[in-house]
Amino acid sequence: MSKLNPVTTHREFSGLPGTIAITFGLAGVILAFGFLINETYCIDGVNIQWDEVWKQVPLSKEDIIELFFDKTTWVAYLIWFSILAVLDIILPGKEMKGITLRDGTQLDYKINGWPMIMLLLTILTSRLAISSDYYLPELAFLYNNHLKLTGTTIAFSFILATLVYIASFIPLRGKNGMGTKERILSINGNTGSPFYDWFIGRELNPRIGYLDIKLFCELRPGLLLWFLINLSCIHHQYHKLGFVSDSLILVNVLQAFYIVDGVQNEEGVLSMIDITTDGFGYMLCFGDLAWLPISYCLQARYLLIKPLNLGITNCLLVNGVMALGFYIFHLANQQKSDFKQGKLDHLNLKLIKTKTGSKLLCDGWWGLSQHINYLGDWFIGWSWCLTTGFETPLTYFYVIYFGSLLFHRQTRDEMKCRAKYGSTWEEYERKVPYKIIPYIY
Ligand code: NDP
Repeated sequence: MSKLNPVTTHREFSGLPGTIAITFGLAGVILAFGFLINETYCIDGVNIQWDEVWKQVPLSKEDIIELFFDKTTWVAYLIWFSILAVLDIILPGKEMKGITLRDGTQLDYKINGWPMIMLLLTILTSRLAISSDYYLPELAFLYNNHLKLTGTTIAFSFILATLVYIASFIPLRGKNGMGTKERILSINGNTGSPFYDWFIGRELNPRIGYLDIKLFCELRPGLLLWFLINLSCIHHQYHKLGFVSDSLILVNVLQAFYIVDGVQNEEGVLSMIDITTDGFGYMLCFGDLAWLPISYCLQARYLLIKPLNLGITNCLLVNGVMALGFYIFHLANQQKSDFKQGKLDHLNLKLIKTKTGSKLLCDGWWGLSQHINYLGDWFIGWSWCLTTGFETPLTYFYVIYFGSLLFHRQTRDEMKCRAKYGSTWEEYERKVPYKIIPYIY
């Protein structure tokens, strides 16, 4: 057995059956959103006219191929993906080191989220300024081809996950920190079961030259596509109805704020479980490239089809929920990041020293619960859903899904920390007994 890459014995998601179900089930869910929330909207509260929905589902071989492999949508998506990849390499940014890997090395990362966002905004605003009638064909394309785009991102995720899985077996060209040509694999994705490892991600940090595929996919093509799909909803409503409802503007602003914050906090992502522990396989490919842009725009797509006037008071209330969530989310993540970098040493905060040399903070936000940042993030999700009013529970899908994701993430992280810190983690749990919601859970 390789010293560098221990064989994974633990299986997540109930092993092979669970990962197969998630792979096909979640792809089905985002396609279903496309069939449910469109111009032929046929939902009344909890009642869905399934016969109307079913009529839209492609059943012939030609229609299925067109859904997943429409040439124009694929060309557009590949151009989008490639331009972002090139920009990621050439745009200037702060050079940073990642965490120390199992072979003792650290990877170099370039943090250039801000230049990327500024460039995208400059292109969009100048395109709008010179356009006649504020019409942008690229935004119209996104709206008009939503289903094909969904199919393309699913198919693309399958292909990319397969390519990185195959590449994980090819020895490195140079040598790793242990003097061998072995790639560093994920501690979770090296079971030997091809489908399971393909799903979880076999290699920890697949790269093409300087481009770190995992970090790139996490913060660029999916996150920014979500932003553009949301904008395409405003664009479509304006050109169809001649006005944009306050609810659609609000959800766009709230989500754009979250997206920009995510991109500008790129440094913080380097210490997230996704980057430090998970391999890059279908789970992250699909999550970043398909699930995120297609399912997170559900509220905007709904509000485009069902224009809703919230009024000033409701807008302020929704903003209040967002502000509270963001306050907790941002300050808690910032505090952990500052603590890890030693910036809070002078404050004498309560902490526990672990055997590995790292410290666990048990004070401030991190004295309230073990993942208070998750609670803030969940409140943010509530604010997005609340913009849609209470006509259907479908638009509240996000908070239910995200709540379960965070709950599952907490259990995974607990398992990781228990294995890493042993009895010190138990001492930490005694000091900070609540997992996410203070005094409740
Ligand atoms: P955390 O930011 O909570 O990080 C967990 C890690 O931090 C642990 O593994 C441990 O790592 C370290 N740690 C835990 N407790 C302490 C402590 N008390 N003191 C010091 N270090 C500690 O989790 P995530 O990486 O999962 O999430 C980061 C953010 O991303 C969250 O705000 C989350 O809400 C958000 N997120 C958003 C998603 C979305 O789709 N919108 C999806 C997933 C996450 P170690 O000790 O090994 O350094």
